[in-house]
Amino acid sequence: MPANRSLLVLPGDGIGPEVMGEVRRVIDWMDRRRAVTFDVGEGLVGGAAIDAEGAPLADATMDRAMNADAVLLGAVGGPKWDSLPFAQKPERGLLRLRKEMQLYANLRPAICFEALVDASTLKPEVVSGLDILIVRELTGGVYFGEPRGIETLPDGTRRGVNTQVYTSPEIRRVAAVAFELARKRGNKVCSSEKANVMESGVLWREEVAKLHEESYSDVELTHMYADNCAMQLVRWPKQFDVIVTDNLFGDMLSDEAAMLTGSLGMLPSASLGDIDETGRRKALYEPVHGSAPDIAGEGKANPIATLLSFAMALRYSFDLAEDADLIESAVTKVLGSGIRTADIAAPGATTVSTEAMGEALIRELDEQAA
Ligand code: NAD
Repeated sequence: MPANRSLLVLPGDGIGPEVMGEVRRVIDWMDRRRAVTFDVGEGLVGGAAIDAEGAPLADATMDRAMNADAVLLGAVGGPKWDSLPFAQKPERGLLRLRKEMQLYANLRPAICFEALVDASTLKPEVVSGLDILIVRELTGGVYFGEPRGIETLPDGTRRGVNTQVYTSPEIRRVAAVAFELARKRGNKVCSSEKANVMESGVLWREEVAKLHEESYSDVELTHMYADNCAMQLVRWPKQFDVIVTDNLFGDMLSDEAAMLTGSLGMLPSASLGDIDETGRRKALYEPVHGSAPDIAGEGKANPIATLLSFAMALRYSFDLAEDADLIESAVTKVLGSGIRTADIAAPGATTVSTEAMGEALIRELDEQAA
């Protein structure tokens, strides 16, 4: 098969290169064993790019990201660059990617691996078998709305302002992503806002309902106030399949849902943009965790979040669901056999290194593909 699937890998800082190394091994494995070939390019982002290229994301790297079928990022940041001015920090590299690729839909799955049921703070029966997906609007809402700022009033009091603002196309495009994804999963969407107290919430609810009626009436749609949604996520999360919500509520609900399942080292994410004229959807895949400077270089990092992010790329950018299933099932098997990096091990249990976890995953993939 020709190498026609282009993937730009940006390992970044801290544990980024370590965890990405294990993903590169899986990519090589796929090349050898599955005849699935990728045209993989690698570039610098974050602190590594500041040191070598003078900016957290060089223009040339940005161009490569715009032209790749998918971008896979490790993590950015670290104490070395903490004192830089805000506009030059490593995180600006990531923000530039999100902004210029116009990634408006952030996908955060919360899947509970059976072997890690006890790692959750919730009861096993509440989280066992959990598989939900939060779709968060990422480029609009109160984090970007104008007017914004802090002003001093004539009487000396200070006033801080942010504006929650959404237009109907912004709501419809992210809702469409949620409906499309639901069709490939449990066929249910719960749309979450605060239509009881916010006009932008009323518009959100109306536009989602309208789009549903026009194009997605085969998908089951419910609406839920965001505060209730937060409560229901800890009460009985298995009632949900796909949740679609705005930037602010999504920020909180996706972190809450993530923690239902245990460790940061296990959590993947995807950010999707529009489909262009060639039929390709801009997409960035990355683990939810950061660069973990406290363990960087020690071989302790869990590579699974980044590997599961790559599996999301296979599913959503490359239409290789079977290969994504294979990776996810290898993760399940390896965890089931008790192999653990330190972040997901019970106190006192034996742990393995980043590399040994990668080796165990390759062994399991070998077995599954045999
Ligand atoms: P972090 O996610 O890097 O680390 C939080 C804790 O989780 C640490 O104790 C770390 O050791 C542990 N951890 C994280 N990922 C792990 C993994 N794969 N395996 C094992 N343990 C893991 O968050 P932080 O400490 O708040 O931030 C550190 C740096 O990362 C900062 O510079 C921050 O700005 C940056 N950051 C970057 C991103 C990103 O690149 N998307 C996200 C969050 C934070």
